[in-house]
Amino acid sequence: MQSFVCELSVGRVVFGAGALAHLPREAERLGANRALVLSTPGHADLARSIVEMLGSRAAGTFCGAAMHVPVATAREALRTARTLSADCLIAIGGGSTTGLAKAVALESDAPIVAIPTTYAGSEMTPIYGLTEGGEKRTARDPRVLPRTVIYDPELTTTLPVGLSVTSGLNAIAHAAEGLYARDANPFTALLAEEGLRAIAGALPAIHRAPRDGAARSQALYGAWLCGIVLGNAGMALHHKLCHLLGGTFNLPHSETHAAVLPHAIAYNAPVVPEALERMVRALGRPDPAAALYDLARDHEAPYSLQALGFAEGDIDRAAELAVAHPYWNPRPIELEAIRALLRNAWEGKRPG
Ligand code: NAD
Repeated sequence: MQSFVCELSVGRVVFGAGALAHLPREAERLGANRALVLSTPGHADLARSIVEMLGSRAAGTFCGAAMHVPVATAREALRTARTLSADCLIAIGGGSTTGLAKAVALESDAPIVAIPTTYAGSEMTPIYGLTEGGEKRTARDPRVLPRTVIYDPELTTTLPVGLSVTSGLNAIAHAAEGLYARDANPFTALLAEEGLRAIAGALPAIHRAPRDGAARSQALYGAWLCGIVLGNAGMALHHKLCHLLGGTFNLPHSETHAAVLPHAIAYNAPVVPEALERMVRALGRPDPAAALYDLARDHEAPYSLQALGFAEGDIDRAAELAVAHPYWNPRPIELEAIRALLRNAWEGKRPG
């Protein structure tokens, strides 16, 4: 076995159908007396019901969370937190809401209770992002790692099927890249393989029956594991491309992950045999890249960049940008090969 260093940073997790009911206990545990509840506009009713649930421990809501945490939104939320003297941030929603809570925590030091409603995994990471002038910057800071995470699968039954599948593939991407990360270790590899198996197994069942409680539990369990991998292992080519396509070309987050992932895995597959072996085991298929493509295509997720509105004429520029500031990747990032990868993803070609 190779040498490794393993130092996991993870928060407290309360998991289970109906787990939201434990929020008052968890808020009290953190000493919250003036909690600010954050959400997207679409979850404003849910945010208000949480304020009611918390009673005197709640100070108010901020329901303006938006994709990729625009700096102006973060400032507005911070102003609200300061005006209300918030001593705890409760983020209910997907990665956009968790991301907003992280931006506020960074400036206020208030602890975060995250209640995820998608499979994005941000609640398990000390990574935060802020977007200004069309550019997204990301960084790590231990202060933004949620102190407590309440995973309640019942909250995910309303997640539309399409978004459930793309969000699940977003989580799978964390696990898949975590398997060949430069700083992967045997523990993150176990989590990644199990997380991948759990989500990939749950998505077809969710597609058949979106309110299937067992499948929703399994998917959220997998999202938790994949999120830990994202927070504790460095990401590579796939995340770089998605970051670029989202940040510079404004493509939607989880859908882009779904369309790019099979091609990024196909690109790296020849040089990461051990990671591939784990993916084969987790997916129960001999070719993980093709299996992930089929998972998207057969369950109504977008599987081409063209379908997401990415212009063919932008392939060259995207390839040049990806090569100009590459992340570490197990296979060298070469212009022609990346151009070919992006073209395949644009066309929605099945790998293999
Ligand atoms: P999101 O949070 O933007 O949610 C997408 C939409 O779905 C929103 O309109 C939201 O209100 C709605 N929604 C969420 N849960 C729902 C539910 N259960 N039922 C019905 N509607 C629901 O999407 P996301 O994919 O979760 O997060 C994407 C963002 O998170 C991106 O900005 C991404 O960069 C960031 N992210 C960050 C990290 C990190 O570690 N920092 C990790 C993953 C993602």
